[in-house]
Amino acid sequence: MPHTRSIALAAMLALAAGTAVAQTPRAAPSVAPPALGAITREELRRDLFAMSSDSMRGREGATQDELRASVWVAERARQAGMLPAGDDGTYFQFFSLRRIRQTAASTVAVGGAPLALWEDAVLLSPVSARVDAPIARVEGAGGAGAMEGRVVVARLRAPTRIPPRGVSLWEWRYALGAMREQSTALRAGNPAAIVLVADTVAAAAFGRMQHWQREGLYRLDEPGAAAPRAAGPPVFLVHPEMMERLADGARFTADLGLESFVYPSVNVVARVAGTDPRLRGEHVLFSAHQDHDGIGEPVNGDSIWNGADDNATVSVALLAIGRAFARRPGRRSALFVWHGAEERGLLGSRWYSAHPTVPRESLVAVLNGDMIGRNHPDSAALLGSIPPHRNSTALVQMALDANRRHTRFLLDNSWDDPAHPEGWYFRSDHLPYARAGIPAIFFTTLLHPDYHTPEDEPERIDIAKLTRMTQWMYATGWAVANAAQRPRVDPGFKLER
Ligand SMILES: [Zn+2]
Repeated sequence: MPHTRSIALAAMLALAAGTAVAQTPRAAPSVAPPALGAITREELRRDLFAMSSDSMRGREGATQDELRASVWVAERARQAGMLPAGDDGTYFQFFSLRRIRQTAASTVAVGGAPLALWEDAVLLSPVSARVDAPIARVEGAGGAGAMEGRVVVARLRAPTRIPPRGVSLWEWRYALGAMREQSTALRAGNPAAIVLVADTVAAAAFGRMQHWQREGLYRLDEPGAAAPRAAGPPVFLVHPEMMERLADGARFTADLGLESFVYPSVNVVARVAGTDPRLRGEHVLFSAHQDHDGIGEPVNGDSIWNGADDNATVSVALLAIGRAFARRPGRRSALFVWHGAEERGLLGSRWYSAHPTVPRESLVAVLNGDMIGRNHPDSAALLGSIPPHRNSTALVQMALDANRRHTRFLLDNSWDDPAHPEGWYFRSDHLPYARAGIPAIFFTTLLHPDYHTPEDEPERIDIAKLTRMTQWMYATGWAVANAAQRPRVDPGFKLER
């Protein structure tokens, strides 16, 4: 068989290369990835700038912009020589999201003068409520007796556990943590509504609160999905300038309506068939997400959250890896999934891992990437590489071998530490697969100050680094696709949360 001969030849080349780069003796013999050179800076740059251009409008999950991005990805995949592997012979797997949000007709007023919802006041979470009650100004948790049936107004207090300085989205986490903690305490007094006046930190998070809290809740459309998150009085955060208007005894009214509807989101799925008749029914799954944060309130005059690093980088990396596999297929098949609605809570990967378009047992490993084009040229991380997040020592070893042989990044292990404040392992699309018992790892070059801002622009991506990270993912996937044994999940694997 021709493919057998080519693999033997490639193995010889790998051994020859091994003598030149001083392999460690325990490195497993493996076949050199034959199409590393097919992964080029020029193609990655072209695709990256197209996918994260302003015309893609931030690719927000469950909007027409996400659908447009998915069509672009599918067409590029077709041009790359990858075959459709979604539903009904297409590149697409549609799934339904349930969105719950405040109606635009919702109103808030103090003494009959309106407060602009989302401008002057934001809601912690969507809620259906009618409020008509006098304000009771309290300090801190207040005296419970004075709150019954009233609208409690209090200055926001710092949360008991202030997020560590430097953690991503610091002001937003602070504000949400503080609102949750203080409103839980105030709820004991049975108020009609809770109004918290932002301190300077929470005021700095107001723009992001407008952008995200206003969007409402998104979930997979499963039984019970249309119910709001929690019962209880509405919880507002208002700008510090509102304090004077919220006088003790003033009449506070609110008419808050909820609406709920179903939207389509979509996973794009493509495949390059393997060459080995015994193994081509098995799949190495390369994973990215196509969506990002869409359009919102302008920040420094820019209203488009381009998501160049997050996650156009890995989306275009998968196109490049697909071209490499189309040129030289492995023994096992390569499967590519660009997940939808990741930013809404890993919804596309939760859907695909529960409803794969190939037999679930055929998924031998998931190689996920999220944000692979920023920070120091030589730094990177492989999450899921140490306990308790490592679910397959064999898969991790293949990735580390590929890095040692081909890409030589300096790997930062600290992000897998369960005590790391970011909890980064729990924030991308490998997670539902790991939970489903499939070997899974997560390639990333980590967070940066432009994370989830309109400044995540393609001009800021290190194209050389993106190319090298793509080669690392490809070389790892090539090793998995050609290994004699599929990687197994380690016995006793259990995540800390
Ligand atoms: Zn992401």
